[in-house]
Amino acid sequence: MKTADVQNLYSKFVLPTYTQAPLCLVKGKGSRVWDIENREYLDFFPGWAVSGLGHCPPAVVNAIKEQSRKILHVPNNYFNLKQAQLARTLVEASFDGRAFFCSSGAEATEAAVKFARKFGSVSGRYEIISMKNSFHGRTLAAITATGQDKVKHGFAPLPGGFVYAEFNNLDSVKSLINDKTVAVFLEPVQGEGGVHVATQEFMRGLRKLCDEKNLLLILDEVQTGMGRTGKMFGFQHYGIEPDLMTLAKSLGGGVPIGALVAHRKLPEVFTPGTHAATYGGNPLVTAAALAVFDVIKSKGLLRNAQEMGDYLAASLEKLKGEFSFIKEIRGLALMRGIELSVSGVAIVDKARQNGLLINCTQDKVLRIMPAINVTKKLISQAMAILRDVLAEVP
Ligand SMILES: *Cc1c(COP(=O)(O)O)cnc(C)c1O
Repeated sequence: MKTADVQNLYSKFVLPTYTQAPLCLVKGKGSRVWDIENREYLDFFPGWAVSGLGHCPPAVVNAIKEQSRKILHVPNNYFNLKQAQLARTLVEASFDGRAFFCSSGAEATEAAVKFARKFGSVSGRYEIISMKNSFHGRTLAAITATGQDKVKHGFAPLPGGFVYAEFNNLDSVKSLINDKTVAVFLEPVQGEGGVHVATQEFMRGLRKLCDEKNLLLILDEVQTGMGRTGKMFGFQHYGIEPDLMTLAKSLGGGVPIGALVAHRKLPEVFTPGTHAATYGGNPLVTAAALAVFDVIKSKGLLRNAQEMGDYLAASLEKLKGEFSFIKEIRGLALMRGIELSVSGVAIVDKARQNGLLINCTQDKVLRIMPAINVTKKLISQAMAILRDVLAEVP
């Protein structure tokens, strides 16, 4: 089988919801992947941050193997040890609260939106302020929360109760608050929106505002969570705690798991029967996520993410000095955006042909998010490929 054969099967049998590069991956190890024709690539955007520990991290693979010999699924009307242990681990690593498990980021958004609605229902409040240029997933509530029109076309009527503020503009948020407002929802670093980092002033200002007005501060940490920014969670850069936090992507090290963590100080909102997910936190995915936490801790990967993040940023700044079409380098640790004055789409294609996988968002922002166990040597290799590609930009 060749890539073209797989492409053929897709064109006949898979609904074309994705824009796809002519690449069929069949094997991965750490930051390297191989395609069906056995070509090797350096993966500096592994699964849009899903494979945060690289591909097939041995501890996660072993946890999956071991768990799959015991029991794959336990329904949520019975107790499941692994889910309880993961909830405790998650809370100990983030803030005092309790977790709900689901299978994706969009589902975590749904859970957060439902939590906020029910929290507000006792005081007649339901409106959620989210940010322009945000991204929260593809279900109806999630595309409504997302502050980008392109994801909404053709899907009306969308659920009501969402308004959009300017990211990093506290006055813009303030101006949208009324007696129906119940929550403020944002990513600590907007990924899809072009790698924009929330300022200290904005995040702390939001925390204060939410406290004053009894609003929930909801942070979408689907992309920023699990060490990506050099801390376990993005909010830990700001000396604040959110009321609700959503997670997915690298939480499972490659298997589908999402989570909502709700602060313990909040009233009892999700009572039995109010929300559910059949697969949510089943033994297989929670065993994998427990292994992810274990690896991050035992291998000192938060520190590695900080150090490699600094090295990556310095390397990118060097490229910026060399190429005048690079306007700005943004981001935290291993979540980096390179804003260009030209389109980045052809650059991503050329990089792939040269053996490096990266991403482009908002047409002009190259995105680089290597595994958090990436090494200096791998970063140097990736930068050399990127430099060659940038040198060919007309
Ligand atoms: C990817 C992403 C989501 C959606 O996650 P899915 O698992 O694709 O549903 C939500 N929020 C952010 C910030 C994301 O990056």
